[in-house]
Amino acid sequence: MARSSAVTPVITTLGLLAVACGGSTPPRPEPAPVAKSTAIVGATLWDGTGRAPVPNAVTLVRNDRILCAGAAGECIVPAGSRVIDARGRYLIPGLIDSHVHLLFITRGSAGEELGLDLRDLLAQGITTVRDMGTDPAGLLSRVRSLHAAPRVHAMQLVAGRRFFFNGFHGTPTARGTIYRQPPAMAMQQLGWNPIQFDPESDAEAVVAQAREAGAMGLKLYAQLDSGSVRRLTQAAHRAGMPVWGHAWVQPASVMEQVTGSQDGVVHAAGLAGELFTVEDRDTLVRDGDLQAATAAVATVGAAHDPRVLAALDSMARKGTMFEPTLDAVRHSVASYDAKLRHIPSLQEEYVRSASRFGMEVTREAVRRGVSISAGSDHVAYGPASDRATLFGELRLLVDSIGLSPTAALLAATRDAARAIGGQPGRQVGTIQKGRYADLVLLAKNPLDDIGNLEYVELVMVGGKVWRPGQLRSGIAMR
Ligand SMILES: [Zn+2]
Repeated sequence: MARSSAVTPVITTLGLLAVACGGSTPPRPEPAPVAKSTAIVGATLWDGTGRAPVPNAVTLVRNDRILCAGAAGECIVPAGSRVIDARGRYLIPGLIDSHVHLLFITRGSAGEELGLDLRDLLAQGITTVRDMGTDPAGLLSRVRSLHAAPRVHAMQLVAGRRFFFNGFHGTPTARGTIYRQPPAMAMQQLGWNPIQFDPESDAEAVVAQAREAGAMGLKLYAQLDSGSVRRLTQAAHRAGMPVWGHAWVQPASVMEQVTGSQDGVVHAAGLAGELFTVEDRDTLVRDGDLQAATAAVATVGAAHDPRVLAALDSMARKGTMFEPTLDAVRHSVASYDAKLRHIPSLQEEYVRSASRFGMEVTREAVRRGVSISAGSDHVAYGPASDRATLFGELRLLVDSIGLSPTAALLAATRDAARAIGGQPGRQVGTIQKGRYADLVLLAKNPLDDIGNLEYVELVMVGGKVWRPGQLRSGIAMR
């Protein structure tokens, strides 16, 4: 496939461009050189902390950090600063996509997809992403060599024995028995690196291995019981690492994940797990069986089932975060809608019911005070039309779930930073003194219409300025 290679990386290192301020030669030994500041002046500032937008604001950046952000009188622009005239514009924190999958190895190579995809994400104003499980070590080493990219954090995938060895379970069909390979094998073929955890495994060792690979937390994927969830979570928390997981992780239910102090759950449709009996949860561990059972129970009405609501209420009470990943499901539904010849399949039935149920579950979650992170489940691989985006997720949160644009933006800034957690999460997500200078300047007000996030004029990552036109590869148009 032809790819545009005519993208020229142009960086402006702000500190270097500032004009040196004058002053006579000091009589004493010279003090350390004062780093030059950049002042973004005149924009309406929405800082993501929850305070009202500040008109005609001044935001000061020095090196890679925010020095001051507020009304004109609050932040004094040092002489010699580089000034960016932002009158009539809107300044928001750099966006965070807390759920992406970036590294895909085909024929032994990651190709150029990863670098081009990260440039596109940056062009959309996304300055931090969290990879929810590929190969942390392989991903992070590749990202280090890239010039233009958001901050990348990686989670380590963990799953139970049956994910790795399913005994090549056969499903009888009219054409004979179909044998599926273990799910882990498909992942490993893409270069992903899931770690196996069994009830008798050493949780500390798994955490140490994840850490060694550069992961900042664990992503629990499948085939884990409630005891395993609890032990992994405790071990990770002792190491200061967050633990997220699929809603549900067969056989552990969302309620058990919450009770086990997991930090967040992903995929709204997975709340269907709460609708199964304990015995069903123990036996519905194979993909085909699970999809059929989910398609059967996940009706719109079931989203209001007391067992689903109890899980959501416990999430709200314990502060367990929720990533519905609605745009990814919307893409799957759209691909079925676009098919000319329509042969009904279990997979399609599953996708359609998961979509309707997931939407309704997300509405209930919002109503019941569950904290939302707008992670999209974006993949840096395959046709652009199949890739979920943070922009698409935010649109759905506003248009279909009923969040205000402000609430949706919080789910991609302040609250997404909380989802990322740990030290990395405390340095991004809001425009506040001491945080990274990760900023987006927009031509139109996103609080009026979340669609205005399309009008990115400038993206700053750690003080470096990028213009979308410098970054777009043309692959991932939304
Ligand atoms: Zn995912």
